[in-house]
Amino acid sequence: MSGQFSGVIDLKKMDESRQGEALVKDAPDKANGKKFYMESYGCAMNFSDSEIVASVLLDNGFSTTNEFINADLILINTCSIRENAEQRVRARLQQFSATKKQRPGTIIGVLGCMAERLKKKLLDEEKLVDIVVGPDAYRTLPDLIQEAQGGQKAVNVLLSREETYADINPVRLGGNGITAFISIMRGCDNMCTFCVVPFTRGRERSRDARSIVEEARMLFEQGYREVTLLGQNVDSYKWVHEGTEETVTFAKLMEMVAQVNTDLRIRFSTSHPKDMTDEVLHTMAKYENICNYIHLPVQSGNSRILEMMNRGYTREWYMKRIDRIREIIPDCGISTDIITGFCSEAEEEHQETVDMMKYVQYDFAYMFKYSERPNTAAERKYEDDIPEEVKSRRLQEIVDLQREHGALQNQKDVGKTFKVLIEGVSKKSEDQLYGRNDQNKVIVFPKEKYNKGDYVQVKVESCTSGTLIGKAI
Ligand code: SF4
Repeated sequence: MSGQFSGVIDLKKMDESRQGEALVKDAPDKANGKKFYMESYGCAMNFSDSEIVASVLLDNGFSTTNEFINADLILINTCSIRENAEQRVRARLQQFSATKKQRPGTIIGVLGCMAERLKKKLLDEEKLVDIVVGPDAYRTLPDLIQEAQGGQKAVNVLLSREETYADINPVRLGGNGITAFISIMRGCDNMCTFCVVPFTRGRERSRDARSIVEEARMLFEQGYREVTLLGQNVDSYKWVHEGTEETVTFAKLMEMVAQVNTDLRIRFSTSHPKDMTDEVLHTMAKYENICNYIHLPVQSGNSRILEMMNRGYTREWYMKRIDRIREIIPDCGISTDIITGFCSEAEEEHQETVDMMKYVQYDFAYMFKYSERPNTAAERKYEDDIPEEVKSRRLQEIVDLQREHGALQNQKDVGKTFKVLIEGVSKKSEDQLYGRNDQNKVIVFPKEKYNKGDYVQVKVESCTSGTLIGKAI
């Protein structure tokens, strides 16, 4: 799952509706006088998990701080998708060591995919770490903290086939009060050879559809106007209602959430080219409040490399899915993920990725050099034989091409009018507001009488390679 949500979680911006909850209502007996500080790295799924962690801690009497030097508990929710993601965490842990020296009682915990990948080994490698918790074990955090407060090192990296945290009400962190994530499933059954996710997040399990619809309804009542349905591969969402045997597919789930309220926009991430059905596309076309935007990772434009990656589709299959999207939803925004320099990738095979980009002309793309990950099938079966300078040259080539395509696609939007959901004040000017159109593009325009959370028609007057600039009409 691409898209980075890295860094300090601004617990002060925590959703007011939950801020004082555990402390005020149950303060006398529940507040334990302990403060936690948390940082979250990696993808939207990790960010959404941090919201579950905050909820578990608040319900167990913890309060929050934005300064790790004032914290009794320091948590870092980690990513393991590439080597540099883990290096970043190790460097950050060193910065906490000073606090530990000043306040020996401070508990330091590592959560998420790096914790799951390394397990107990992390305690040997990083001596100042007290707790190691995998993505399926956040309910056990209070017990693990107690163990650590007793002077033990505490680890729980058990992966689950059931856990979806469906009954835990996430604390909305650092958000704008308008857009929110809803995790609809956990884990992944696809075994792409380059990917650690199946090992760090376990087998796929879909969350009870009714709890997802209920969360969307609650968010709408709290003033949110957009939800993003999250899963490693949303297209394989499948929930069976035990009572009625009714099966809820991803298309059906989207329809159920779209019917919560026509003023609640729906987005989703991440789709998989081999599983994305026409039913999903027709459902998107049927509901105005399901955004016309799809993130469809291609990874490579060459079928031999796709087979080595075990992606489950060919170049031709992927192009047909793109054609189908454009047939059923002509104005659909499309973005992707690309890995360049995968094992044995020949120059002409790289050029097929370049050709694919020219064929699709993506609005946006996350592009990376292949980073070999321990214990993946690719590490076991293939040699990471593409020289670093060739990987870098190929990456630069596609980054430059994508910049061109991004600007081109934005240029095509000049003169068009889009329905925009206002998310806040532009960073550049207090007099400007920003929001996104259906296609997930950021648009800035003069504030006039509009406010955050409003829908407004904006006519695009100009653009940069990354932003559309317009005027409300
Ligand atoms: S679909 Fe492939 S790349 Fe995506 S999370 Fe699953 S295994 Fe990883």
